[in-house]
Amino acid sequence: ETAVLWFRRDLRLDDHAALLSATERADKVLGLFVLDERLLRPSGAPRVAFLYGCLRELADQLDGRLLVVHGDPVTEVSKAARAVGAASVHVTADCAPYGTTRDRAVAKELAQHGIEWVETGSPYAVTPGQVTKPDGEPYRVFTAFYRAWLRRGWHSPARKSTVEWIAPEHAPKIPKDPDIGEMKLPEPGEKAAKRVWKRFLKDGLGGYDAERDRPDHDGTTRLSPYLHWGCVHPRTLLADLAGHRGAGVESLRSEIAWREFHADVLWHRPDAARRNYDKRFDRIAYDEDRSTFDSWCEGRTGYPIVDAGMRQLLAEGWMHNRVRMIVASFLVKDLHLPWWWGARHFMRHLVDGDLASNQLNWQWVAGSGTDAAPYFRIFNPTTQGEKFDPQGDYVRKYVPELRGIPGKAVHQPWKHQPEGYPEPVVDHAHERQVALDRFNRVKRS
Ligand code: FAD
Repeated sequence: ETAVLWFRRDLRLDDHAALLSATERADKVLGLFVLDERLLRPSGAPRVAFLYGCLRELADQLDGRLLVVHGDPVTEVSKAARAVGAASVHVTADCAPYGTTRDRAVAKELAQHGIEWVETGSPYAVTPGQVTKPDGEPYRVFTAFYRAWLRRGWHSPARKSTVEWIAPEHAPKIPKDPDIGEMKLPEPGEKAAKRVWKRFLKDGLGGYDAERDRPDHDGTTRLSPYLHWGCVHPRTLLADLAGHRGAGVESLRSEIAWREFHADVLWHRPDAARRNYDKRFDRIAYDEDRSTFDSWCEGRTGYPIVDAGMRQLLAEGWMHNRVRMIVASFLVKDLHLPWWWGARHFMRHLVDGDLASNQLNWQWVAGSGTDAAPYFRIFNPTTQGEKFDPQGDYVRKYVPELRGIPGKAVHQPWKHQPEGYPEPVVDHAHERQVALDRFNRVKRS
């Protein structure tokens, strides 16, 4: 019997439950990837370049036995399956809004040809929708979700299987990378993910809890792009963590759970990708000032930690989590711009851009998300910079105009008038009050 394994956000061969399920059914497997314009077009160049790199590495691991086609999955998957006489098509479930709709259409098309659709696992340790309150309602607060998620637990990594991969007629046609200019991306693929993770377990895990909030130190795993494309499964990470001790273990497990929580929220509320999760926020007045938005995008707001973060994004397609929170807070609460403007800019430039993690983190910062009252949590960009980049090294790395200001003083450049660096576009103390006033008006109305 023959089966198709349709790869999507699971570009790896290890700990692959859908691959295992294909090999349990069939003695020959066709590996397939469909380049779908509807997904590629809105993805920024960095994410697409990283994807192509992952595909190249996967194809190498398979000695070229990977069929890569361009087109609409509804017709292409069925065409490929029929061409090899497959009885079943195996996938890792997609839980995001476009993917779930697409998969229903693909499964329906396959059924018309008598081909079975088999979903096994998901890109998460616990498939979204499975952790609910006793009454079946979804969790809205992370800590409660986290406890229930831990209680529920997850499968051990899928065991390895022997596979006879079908060689397609042509070598895989993976397009040329889109132009990303000078941007430096991480090395793509499953092998790179394993290397990054091994190195982190050895050198980073012990200090993770203390270091994870320090953008000037390289203290986090940097696994987010690999997790997005499934070069490594979170179940593998959780299984490895179970063999370690210390504060870093618990702390990293809970970060992995944040990813699962946001996916769960989006699964229950697909509209949260575009609209306020908390409908009260529909009444908040936003400004629509393109020029302050441009200064934010370019890293020219006059607030060093904000500018360093925005420039790190443009240079590397990645930004440190603490700084993501600071720049997002600045966009929404200092510039009073809609969170979805910022979210769109992030999705265009992030190599780890992920609909669930991105949109819901943005909503969390904006206050319109799942958390109860964070609207009042308005970051002061100067004190945040002084606290989390205490020597100013992070700022000086990404903002060359400020390299002449030593130490912590770099966070208050207006006292030094550095050449070529802008004055603050807004006055934080004033805008903070404006943000609170707007929120209070909505609350009262
Ligand atoms: P680590 O600290 O090593 O964490 C390990 C893994 O845990 C991460 O790879 C990630 O998968 C997960 N994780 C950690 N923090 C979060 C979080 N707050 N929410 C969800 N998952 C988390 N992450 C994305 O993967 N894609 C995005 O598009 C994205 N957009 C964001 C937008 C904003 C405004 C904010 C505040 C955060 C966003 N994050 C996003 C979450 C977080 O910033 C990144 O996952 C993290 O910085 C990636 O670096 P790391 O792999 O070294 O993280």
